[in-house]
Amino acid sequence: MLSYALFIMLRAVFPGSFDPPTYGHINIIERAVEIFDELHIIVAVNREKKYLFSPEERVAMMRNLVSHWSNVHVDMWDSLIVNYLSKENIKVLIRGVRGVSDFAYEFDLSMMNKGLNPSIETIFMTTDPKYFILRSSAIKELASFGGDVSTMVPPIVAEALKKKYDRASF
Ligand code: ADP
Repeated sequence: MLSYALFIMLRAVFPGSFDPPTYGHINIIERAVEIFDELHIIVAVNREKKYLFSPEERVAMMRNLVSHWSNVHVDMWDSLIVNYLSKENIKVLIRGVRGVSDFAYEFDLSMMNKGLNPSIETIFMTTDPKYFILRSSAIKELASFGGDVSTMVPPIVAEALKKKYDRASF
């Protein structure tokens, strides 16, 4: 008797500003890679937001940080994230939550995305307690004052922050 193995690829998208990537983001990525066969990290380009790093810089840092995973892809996207999911025929959106205030925001966002495309499922991954205080905005502020961010971001990001703020102080 012939038996057929049906292999369904589980694919997901993890979108964010990643301005810059932190150990909190990396933790979500390494846990998502354990669950999904393919992960797309989407660096958001939102004209309404002011970023420290350009989209190209954020993509380059993220690509460097995930280069050891062949099933993780990094791209930038300047439109609605639901349009990216439709284009790639991916149904799962991953978001990280650090606490109740994140959840309130993320819940509203997921309702909006569901309204735009009912087939999309948002999966919330709670932060690892080690990283729950990590927030890109606070890390940038600390780095701007010359504070030590080495326990919060990977070395290439710490170096990039240092370069940005050293240059800005001239
Ligand atoms: P955005 O502007 O889309 O919120 P961020 O880069 O700030 O972009 O965050 C991207 C995603 O990663 C969001 O879902 C956010 O809640 C999550 N995230 C950020 N920092 C952490 C952390 N320390 N632990 C878990 N999730 C996090």
